[in-house]
Amino acid sequence: MALPTKNSVPDALGAALGTDRVRAAAETDSVGGAAPSWVATVDGTEQVSAAMRVAAEHELRVVATGSGSKLDWGAPPREVDLLVDLSAADGIVEHAAGDLVVHAKAGTSLRRVQEQVAQSGQQLSIEHPLPNATLGGIVATGAAGPSRHLHGTVRDLLIGITVVRPDGVVTRAGGKVVKNVAGYDLGKLYSGSYGTLGVITETIFRLHPLAAERRWISVDADEPAMLDAVLRAFKRTQAMPTAVELDRTLDGRTTVCAQLEGRADATHERALTLSELVGGETGTNVDVHDDPPAWWGHYPHGTGDDIGLRLTVRPASIPGVISRASEAAQRSGVKLSLRGAAGVGVLDGGIPAGTDPDAVAELVSALRTVTAAPGENTVIVRAPRAVTATVDPWGPVPSGVLTLLKNTKAQFDPEHRLAPGRFVGGI
Ligand SMILES: Cc1cc2nc3c(=O)[nH]c(=O)nc-3n(C[C@H](O)[C@H](O)[C@H](O)COP(=O)(O)OP(=O)(O)OC[C@H]3O[C@@H](n4cnc5c(N)ncnc54)[C@H](O)[C@@H]3O)c2cc1C
Repeated sequence: MALPTKNSVPDALGAALGTDRVRAAAETDSVGGAAPSWVATVDGTEQVSAAMRVAAEHELRVVATGSGSKLDWGAPPREVDLLVDLSAADGIVEHAAGDLVVHAKAGTSLRRVQEQVAQSGQQLSIEHPLPNATLGGIVATGAAGPSRHLHGTVRDLLIGITVVRPDGVVTRAGGKVVKNVAGYDLGKLYSGSYGTLGVITETIFRLHPLAAERRWISVDADEPAMLDAVLRAFKRTQAMPTAVELDRTLDGRTTVCAQLEGRADATHERALTLSELVGGETGTNVDVHDDPPAWWGHYPHGTGDDIGLRLTVRPASIPGVISRASEAAQRSGVKLSLRGAAGVGVLDGGIPAGTDPDAVAELVSALRTVTAAPGENTVIVRAPRAVTATVDPWGPVPSGVLTLLKNTKAQFDPEHRLAPGRFVGGI
């Protein structure tokens, strides 16, 4: 029997999915500069499986996409033949309100999930600046907002997942019960794997009750000593902030903001007590607000050609890291703003579009020496190709870790057809 050729791809996809679900790719379908040939619009695990079987028969390189909001995150894939579009694969399969669990298709937007579960006084504790982002994309990029301080990241909230392997086989891990993982917890493996291990088709998340009341306490802390004192005060307090974020603007103005959540009649009082405590300890003015600051939960980089970085640091090192990062940015002539989870040590960096790629490369190298302690790193989350061609977006990884990552990739995607080159070490 003759081997299938690339010419037979549209017919094979059409036969598997229906011709209305297959089209030739347009220029706008490009993934970080890599142009696919075809787009398959799929709905549901069975259709993804059918598309992946055709891709396997024709040895196609595949990238999955949801709303496309973070398709330019990570290194650009070396090549892509088929874009598997899950944006139509949306819908809530089950909201088990009594169990605080939601099961939804991967193409469902976070906004839709929040609207549905809020009707039962619940929330999925992932704030996302791009509410149209889909659950699949959020899991694949390991995205997290201010709530990671208390509730953890998507890795901690995901309790079940359905994934289609590159050969089309459907795998399921976890389920609807919070403590249900025997053996390896594969949901954790797929969180932050950038579509390089499988196509996520369904997700099950644990939920939390919506707080009856929220208050925010903000403090200006431009100087490192003040920043250190403020962060220590928020850490020591018994008031249990549910998030502690900071924002450092281009001109060096730094604000720390803590969120308190709780009962309607008690949260404002707790916020006042905490503001007096922090004010007393740091000798500064501390304000209580009914609403979060405008920057709360937003990335310091926009869409378009802005450059996004992520610095993972030990929380105690934040004041020193911020000073040294600002000095490095000044030396490189790069405008760098920083924002993020001060309480857990994950800071996003924003650099305006059009910044000279060599200057960005110089800054990123300097930041990698600033964030060089065990567990720390600086990665380029998103950047135009001119930048990622100049500096490795992921940076160096210890050789033992890289071997582990490569072995995992070889096991899950032995032909390297899923988003090749996207991940750490060119995986
Ligand atoms: C081939 C492959 C193998 C994997 N093997 C494992 C495994 O054995 N065990 C496991 O638990 N998970 C594994 N993962 C999953 C994935 O690496 C993690 O889930 C991911 O690092 C998310 O980390 P985080 O939740 O701490 O996110 P964050 O700390 O928020 O990380 C932010 C982002 O930066 C990336 N990142 C984090 N650290 C580094 C680093 N040192 N260098 C470059 N980028 C980084 C992450 O992928 C993430 O997207 C694997 C993924 C792939 C693709």
